[in-house]
Amino acid sequence: MAIDLEDARKRMVVEQLEKRGIRDARVLEVMGAVARHRFLPAELHDHAYDDGPLPIGDSQTISQPYMVALMSEVAELEGHEKVLEVGTGSGYQTAVLSHLAREVHSVESIEHLHDRARVILTSIGIRNVVLHYGDGSEGLPEHAPYEVIMVTAAMPGIPMPLLHQLTPKGRLVAPIGEDELQTLVRISRRTGQWNEEYFGECRFVKMIGKHGFKE
Ligand code: SAH
Repeated sequence: MAIDLEDARKRMVVEQLEKRGIRDARVLEVMGAVARHRFLPAELHDHAYDDGPLPIGDSQTISQPYMVALMSEVAELEGHEKVLEVGTGSGYQTAVLSHLAREVHSVESIEHLHDRARVILTSIGIRNVVLHYGDGSEGLPEHAPYEVIMVTAAMPGIPMPLLHQLTPKGRLVAPIGEDELQTLVRISRRTGQWNEEYFGECRFVKMIGKHGFKE
């Protein structure tokens, strides 16, 4: 018998998020509301609320629920922001962001992942997201500036072109480091100068592109 997905989602919020220290009430509420299984093929539905990343094709992954929640919390969204996400992937993090911010632009460089995310996000009724196809490692200057830029693929270094697309109080949240292991970093200049904060180790698939890793 198939597992009760709503039940599994509630347990995910308590056991994987609250117990590990996610405190932002809006993040917890949205993680409990967005149907993660809708972003996965039917054969993976029973695993949608497991504590890890899952394959979405093309060697890409949907991030672990905890990582989606942590990045969302670190972004400190209040609801009025314009957000840029680089690496749409399945569209799951995009959906979470769409409930936490006013407007989300998300860029994906693999065309059929971009197309599939559009179908899913439309089918679940999300309207404040604009999906873009292309290399997002340079950001998306035509819609800048953004209060938050969230990168969901590993970057080899601090992406200066992205930092220049932030509002004065904006922040960038990104996994930065080697191709096998990165650190989750938040970069902001709320104090007038660039300030870096670290939120632990993480493993993301590589960003491929001008300011990413070589293919
Ligand atoms: N946020 C996603 C995780 C995506 S995995 C989710 O919740 O499902 C990282 C994604 O970044 C992959 O889909 C990959 O194709 C994409 N990517 C890699 N390099 C990129 C680039 N230069 N521009 C845009 N997207 C890129």
